[in-house]
Amino acid sequence: MSTGPEILLATLAAAALCALAIVSFRLKKLRQFSRLEAETCRQRYQREIDDAHSERDRLLDALGDAFLLVDAGGIIRFANAAAHELFRGRELLQRPAREALLEPRLAESLLYCLETGDPANSRVVLSQQTSPRGDLESRGVNAWITDAARLPAHGDGGPFTRVIIRDVTAEHQTDQIRKDFVANASHELRTPMAIINGYLENLLDDDMVDDPKMARRFLSVMRKHAERISRIVEDMLVISRLESGEAAALKIEPFRFRSCVNDVLERLESVIRAQQAEIRVTMDNEDLTLEGDRFYWTQVLFNLVENALKQNPHPGLQVGIGCRTDAGATHIWVTDNGIGIPSSALPHIFRRFYRVEKHHSQHEIKGTGLGLSIVKRAIEAHGGHIAVTSIPGRETKFHITLPGI
Ligand code: ATP
Ligand code: MG
Repeated sequence: MSTGPEILLATLAAAALCALAIVSFRLKKLRQFSRLEAETCRQRYQREIDDAHSERDRLLDALGDAFLLVDAGGIIRFANAAAHELFRGRELLQRPAREALLEPRLAESLLYCLETGDPANSRVVLSQQTSPRGDLESRGVNAWITDAARLPAHGDGGPFTRVIIRDVTAEHQTDQIRKDFVANASHELRTPMAIINGYLENLLDDDMVDDPKMARRFLSVMRKHAERISRIVEDMLVISRLESGEAAALKIEPFRFRSCVNDVLERLESVIRAQQAEIRVTMDNEDLTLEGDRFYWTQVLFNLVENALKQNPHPGLQVGIGCRTDAGATHIWVTDNGIGIPSSALPHIFRRFYRVEKHHSQHEIKGTGLGLSIVKRAIEAHGGHIAVTSIPGRETKFHITLPGI
């Protein structure tokens, strides 16, 4: 029989057991709950990291420049869309950068930065064959700026180095054109200057001044070359005005194209007569009105007709001037049946100072070689373009197209 204290003890023991069961049940629940909570947190953080990564990729893909992230071992871990586009067809990710970039000069800044930790950049000028664009490169010499800098150390696997590769070919070409222009202009100016100086020396040092006949001859040669200098300077100013791209460089107003043709033929009348050249004007609309700068259009037409006459001083040259308007465009052309332009020269004909060697005018005082580059720039400033075809002895045709007039 159970005694009172035993019952009490048993009851206490049972109560303690119950309490223990409850506590352990609660503990278990709590453990389960915190595991669940931790998993939810982990997933949430992972989602945030993934979001941050795709946001980063999205932003870097929007960059126009190629962007690479390279780890401390020189392996490419990230490449944006522009980088994939640039190195098209070549695997970039998980590859050593010095290998993936192919051209060692493109990897120079990166290698320096990896080695020293200091930022580095360099300008790399490549040939068409060594361009990272491979077969897509059609621009000849191409130029790139590579810029590498180490990023602050980061938890997962850093430090990374970022590399930006920027295409600066257009700037490089403009620089080159400017350098060539200055070099050519100085060269073209130096020749007449030297001639004038030579004659001056003769006049002064050899006492030619006392021989009026000789002095007059010398002075007239000097005047011809001085005129050439002022023409070159004048033409260079016109080109620089047209190239400034300012709308103010043009005085746009409506004018009759025919009046422009008449002006040019009037100015060249004595040459046309002397050369017994035949000029044929074909216009489907004598009242054709152009919206543009009449001064430049006269220059354009003058240079084209003058070129035809100047390059073909023999009698009997036929020169055609014409215009036609169709639905979308106005076409203007100048043709001649003279010596023509060799096909090897055609691609260069609109370049500044370019003249076809062995042409007639080279034996006399030269043109500046700026005429056609002014023609091209003036037409482009009006939104049009000019093309040339030439079958020597048959037809040389300069064809201008002006859209939507
Ligand atoms: P400038 O016009 O400055 O007096 P230029 O006439 O020599 O000098 P461009 O008008 O630019 O210079 O012409 C460049 C070259 O193109 C000429 O020197 C000539 O060799 C060639 N050329 C142009 N038009 C003709 C043409 N109709 N027939 C043959 N050759 C031409
Ligand atoms: Mg000319």
